[in-house]
Amino acid sequence: MPRTPSRTLLDIAAFYAFSELSARELPGLSARLRARAEELEIAGLMIIGAEGVNATIAGSKPRMEEFLAFLAPLVGRERLEAKWSRAERAPFRKFAVKIRDEIVTIGKPELRPSPTASPRRSLSPEDWHRELSVPGTIVLDTRNWYETRMGKFRSAVDPGIDEFHEFPEFLKNSGLAKDQRVLIYCTGGIRCEKAILEMDRQGFTDVAQLDGGILAYLEKFPDTAFEGDCFVFDHRVALNQKLEPSGRYGLCPHCGQPAEITIHCARCDSPALVCAACHEKENARRTCSKNCAHHARLTPGKKGRPPQPQGPRLSARARH
Ligand SMILES: [Zn+2]
Ligand SMILES: [Zn+2]
Repeated sequence: MPRTPSRTLLDIAAFYAFSELSARELPGLSARLRARAEELEIAGLMIIGAEGVNATIAGSKPRMEEFLAFLAPLVGRERLEAKWSRAERAPFRKFAVKIRDEIVTIGKPELRPSPTASPRRSLSPEDWHRELSVPGTIVLDTRNWYETRMGKFRSAVDPGIDEFHEFPEFLKNSGLAKDQRVLIYCTGGIRCEKAILEMDRQGFTDVAQLDGGILAYLEKFPDTAFEGDCFVFDHRVALNQKLEPSGRYGLCPHCGQPAEITIHCARCDSPALVCAACHEKENARRTCSKNCAHHARLTPGKKGRPPQPQGPRLSARARH
């Protein structure tokens, strides 16, 4: 269901595909993707590996659709589905491709989602929405604590992990009943592709995942069972229920975590957002940047110019 954006916003596409690529072909694939993205004036970040591709890109929607059509056969697909959202400005300055062992890191390269896996255990947003209200169902978030803090499905179990690779250990000690129906979700679906294999390995017998993650769910069911904002791994930081930047968060200039406390820099007087943890720290609490923190330490009380604006700090962690 297309919506009319309330402001002029850019389109963003998030997508992934598990595939069977050979490590040898990855540098060549990377070069082809970069060339095509340049022709189509697409910016973004793609993680590619022998297990597939995982990306968030920005550009004009028809051109991104062209890019998806170009990519699909290269990863053995007829077509690729993207999750669409919007941004006020390009979340990326350029197009970059990174080659990694895992396209989403659980730290267990042996967990390889099959490109031809049956969609049996993957619930559409509609089916997921229906199942949420079935009594005795456990809803389990597979994301990190700073993501769940911003928003999650009502009554979801929050593992409180720092990174996705801690999920298997969390699961082991979770005390969740192995024969109960467990519904798992993440931002765009990719983490659940591996989480569900780990759950199989640990003996869970009745698990299903949300196809397309929160992004696909909010497209169909805004303002219902998912409460709060959805964290995304680019400078938008968080999307609201309309899949537009929520504007409530920035990235902390000191540590890169989501930040929501407004400060005025003691050195350069610029306004900035810092995170709650850095706000506890004497020097970080009062400064807008690492640079101002450094100078405030060297010469306390002296004023200085604002640092040069920097591009968004992009995380190389799990991206959907
Ligand atoms: Zn911080
Ligand atoms: Zn400053």
